[in-house]
Amino acid sequence: MQKIRQLTTELTFRCNAKCPACHRVKPLSIDLNNKQYTITLERFKQLFNPELLRNLEWLVLNGNFGDSIMNKEFREILAYVKEHDVKFNIHTNGGIHNIDYWKDIGNILDKFDIINFDLDGLEDTHHIYRINTEFEKVFENARAVISTKRPQVHWKYIVFEHNKHQVEKARELAIEEGFTTFSTVKTSREFGRPTSGKFVHAKKTDQYGKAEKKIHCIWEDWDKWYISPEGLVFRCCWTGGHYYDSDNSRFYYPPDFEKKFNGFNVPIQKIISYNYWNKLSLFLQGYDRAFSLCKSQCGKLLSSREKIEENLGTGEKTYFDAFNQLGN
Ligand code: SF4
Ligand code: SF4
Repeated sequence: MQKIRQLTTELTFRCNAKCPACHRVKPLSIDLNNKQYTITLERFKQLFNPELLRNLEWLVLNGNFGDSIMNKEFREILAYVKEHDVKFNIHTNGGIHNIDYWKDIGNILDKFDIINFDLDGLEDTHHIYRINTEFEKVFENARAVISTKRPQVHWKYIVFEHNKHQVEKARELAIEEGFTTFSTVKTSREFGRPTSGKFVHAKKTDQYGKAEKKIHCIWEDWDKWYISPEGLVFRCCWTGGHYYDSDNSRFYYPPDFEKKFNGFNVPIQKIISYNYWNKLSLFLQGYDRAFSLCKSQCGKLLSSREKIEENLGTGEKTYFDAFNQLGN
């Protein structure tokens, strides 16, 4: 079968945090706590079967709605995937479990894996956005993983108006504590985004108004798909997240989507080889006819995620933009 560069999934739609700009708080057609949206180890093994894993380079755990640490079999699922030589890129708020639990996580992972902790500020600011998580606890959990000297531990910092003055102090702390990288993320969402200075997202500047209208399907470019915990295969996390909107009108999902694009009915490796993806790609070449979701996420080259990641060992900086979306 074809080699797959990257798949993104989340092991549950449940979350311990209550971030005010999260997709969780939008009007949805489903109950996120329903057990069909938390995958068991047994079902995970069916969906991510050994043949698929043998041909997969990266598995990203990142949430549209949930944090994989809320899945009670998180450690077991990680251990199963690591039997197949797949690299992990895990994103977590890190706000639950104790040091021993996180040391276990570190020991399951290896030096090729990445774990990102969301630390949006310091003791007095982090919880303003990451509601229900405490800086000290997340920091202690991240340090527990660092102490295993196994995976790369990343500090991911969303810059808001209320924490933008602490970026340099946090970066110094990241160096002291042995984090591998420190990254700043610009936000275009309306909660507390910076209104001035170098952390204003391009979507909120004049640049955006002037940018050329052209759909650049960045998940196609990066050869990756999003899989929901109930097994549905989507082109990207955005089409996956908005599928559950109570008013699902921003993207077109083909007839019988729930059946034909469900990895429990048809192996994921077969779904991603459908000709549908080529047709979608061709369709998206016309800006005016494209879906409103694609226009807003990928309709202008400035509209993608904006993140700068600094390797704290070498000082090398990686810019994540429309052309580099690894790890979303
Ligand atoms: S931690 Fe992630 S999934 Fe949970 S509420 Fe915050 S943004 Fe949403
Ligand atoms: S929003 Fe549309 S254009 Fe952007 S990655 Fe998803 S499918 Fe592709």
